[in-house]
Amino acid sequence: MSSSKYIFVTGGVTSSLGKGIISASLAKLLQARGYSVTIQKFDPYINVDPGTLNPYEHGECYVTDDGAETDLDLGHYERFLNVPTSQDNNVTTGRIYFKVISEERQGKFLGKTVQVVPHITDEIKKNFKALGQTGKFDIIITEIGGCVGDIEALPFIEAVRQFKWEMGDRNVIVIHLTLVPYLKSAGELKTKPTQHSVRNLSESGIQPDILVCRTEFHLSQDIRKKIALFSNLQQNCVIESIDAETIYDVPLLMKKEKLDIRVLQKLNLEEKQEPNLDTWKEFLGKLKNPTSEINIALIGKYVELKDAYKSIAEAFIHAGAVNECKVNIEWIQSEKLLENVYETIANYDGILVAPGFGERGFEGKINAVKIAREHKIPFFGICLGMQCAVVEFARNVLFLPEAASTEMNPSTPDPVIDMMEEQKKITQKGGTMRLGAFPCQIDENSKSAKAYQSTLISERHRHRYEFNSNYKEKYTQAGMIPVGINPETGLVEIVEIQEHPWFVGVQFHPELKSTVLNPHPLFVGFVRAALEFSKLKN
Ligand code: GLN
Repeated sequence: MSSSKYIFVTGGVTSSLGKGIISASLAKLLQARGYSVTIQKFDPYINVDPGTLNPYEHGECYVTDDGAETDLDLGHYERFLNVPTSQDNNVTTGRIYFKVISEERQGKFLGKTVQVVPHITDEIKKNFKALGQTGKFDIIITEIGGCVGDIEALPFIEAVRQFKWEMGDRNVIVIHLTLVPYLKSAGELKTKPTQHSVRNLSESGIQPDILVCRTEFHLSQDIRKKIALFSNLQQNCVIESIDAETIYDVPLLMKKEKLDIRVLQKLNLEEKQEPNLDTWKEFLGKLKNPTSEINIALIGKYVELKDAYKSIAEAFIHAGAVNECKVNIEWIQSEKLLENVYETIANYDGILVAPGFGERGFEGKINAVKIAREHKIPFFGICLGMQCAVVEFARNVLFLPEAASTEMNPSTPDPVIDMMEEQKKITQKGGTMRLGAFPCQIDENSKSAKAYQSTLISERHRHRYEFNSNYKEKYTQAGMIPVGINPETGLVEIVEIQEHPWFVGVQFHPELKSTVLNPHPLFVGFVRAALEFSKLKN
């Protein structure tokens, strides 16, 4: 029997209150006190994982080392905790049902009627415990996606109720995140939505142990008292979560509100040491006091929804802070880059072509690469962005005008980007791409090796297409060098143009491994190159 303690984080009133950030911030504080903590997310939708979801609907799909396609909140968990997550850290309704239904087909229920309670709830509880049973963690924080009261979330909430009952109040607590809106016309903060939300949770048989209230203005003692009274809570368990300048302020704000101390008291755990947040504060100091500024053009297809490139945006925040440089990102729709391309992007200090799928916007991305290459503007291509760089080089330098990726043009005479052999027989979607961490050997004379200060790295992947190795010679001779190779399969993972201040294309997703404590070396290098380029211009 594991002795891990469990914290559940539920949400009420509305979605998007920031359960992920609150969970990550609490985890950070507990970690900084000396506890080993992990965070898992349970999502109530029926997709087996978010891998098949359109980024417009759900934001970026985050990939773990072990190749799970997960919710973007796992990115926050890793960025805050600096500890990798895994397949077990994200579970959906679809995955739970899939398991139970497969077992039913295997005859495991011995003729019983299979029901939401107890079979689905039992499977949910089993998954609540999976990470605890590894023995690696003192505390498991579980974020329940969606809002209390949603039809979809009911089995999860019921499972939390049962779990708390079975494990005991000293081992399991529930933190409920709600909203205390400010009504401009009344000039007041309103507690009613919070009261309703707590009542809703209570009707499901769960008494929250702590309330975290999102608010635009400070909560007075009177308001806290009122909320506490309606919620059966001590006043010091009503925690204010005021809007912050950056998400990275939230751990410090939660520390001020003593969220970590309340949690430890409720779970009967010692406070251990004062949280050591020195490096975190140093990062915040640099982030908030930049000495320079650069403008980066981010060329992508899903630019209307910034969450679609969440990890890239965060990686720039980390890399900017290291360089004490404010990084402004201009999100540019690739479809628009069919004319006036030079005028639109040549003034930026750096150009990043984003990952993506499908034909839409592909030619615009190629046009962006051409400007970056010809005008020696620092360039960073990620996954599809790297593939665009390879196609552009073929068309404009190797004199292969019809070169393409077979994803966009299956009958191209020059498939410089082609589907990987092992992908050709796959018909199922979801979990079937080349996923997760793979090693990469880097040329020691490359810009990448200098940035990483290493020649052997491991990075995460999510793609079906690859650089076609039949063209390696041609590229190398013409100056685009495959400097990063998978030592096991020979797949090309990084290309660089040596005669360029910073032209780096990577088949993997470096953004997924950038954290506050370990800003990603390639982002740091790209920001530095953009900074130098901007100084040269002025
Ligand atoms: N669509 C490309 C592939 O599957 C790139 C994927 C990506 O950018 N993540 O290879």
